[in-house]
Amino acid sequence: MRMRNKPWAIDFIADHPQFVISNPTEAKGKWHEIFGNSHPIHIEVGTGKGQFITGMAGQNDSINYIGIELSESIIVTALQKAIEVDLPNLKLLNVNAEKLTEYFEDGEIDRVYLNFSDPWPKPRHAKRRLTFKTFLSIYERILVDGGEIHFKTDNQGLFEYSLTSFSEYGLRLQYVSLDLHNSKFEGNIMTEYEEKFSGLGQRIYRSEVKFLN
Ligand code: SAM
Repeated sequence: MRMRNKPWAIDFIADHPQFVISNPTEAKGKWHEIFGNSHPIHIEVGTGKGQFITGMAGQNDSINYIGIELSESIIVTALQKAIEVDLPNLKLLNVNAEKLTEYFEDGEIDRVYLNFSDPWPKPRHAKRRLTFKTFLSIYERILVDGGEIHFKTDNQGLFEYSLTSFSEYGLRLQYVSLDLHNSKFEGNIMTEYEEKFSGLGQRIYRSEVKFLN
């Protein structure tokens, strides 16, 4: 995602701790307390500008959602959407997914969404892909037994790589679509990237995989 310089982003984020959790290490193991209920918690890693996570939270009030995004200048747009919808079941985290085990207790999360993750096409950058095995082991730790990863992308190379990575890790394939927008899948909420690339005629790939107990 293209970076824009938004010098005001850091202060704006700090001014809204009810939406962007400012002390995430202290939240570890306490996310149900933070949401004030025992509903399942779903996270989106690389949430970008937040259209998916705010849409999901608006449609499913018995699920808690956390959007995780590395870049301040990008998450600030998700924050503006979160302020607008003002939902009790939506939080944001401005952190690197490499450190998720510092912010979530083992088994605290029920589902991970990965949407249009950066493809990092060069083989020497494979470790940075959010479906690389080190990330899968992080998701495995923070997910409940039998937790799932739901993944969408327009990038055929990343999709094929990820299906192989999931399979080599021992994840079970539950669902796959090679053309989501022309499939029978219902209730799809589009991300900003999904709108852009499907608008250009790109096909959208989607999979659901599950960690076996
Ligand atoms: N999911 C959004 C969408 O579909 O519109 C954004 C897709 S964008 C290509 C990928 C996003 O993932 C970027 O905003 C990037 O900053 C974020 N990202 C990449 N690596 C990350 C990491 N290790 N931890 C958190 N966010 C990350």
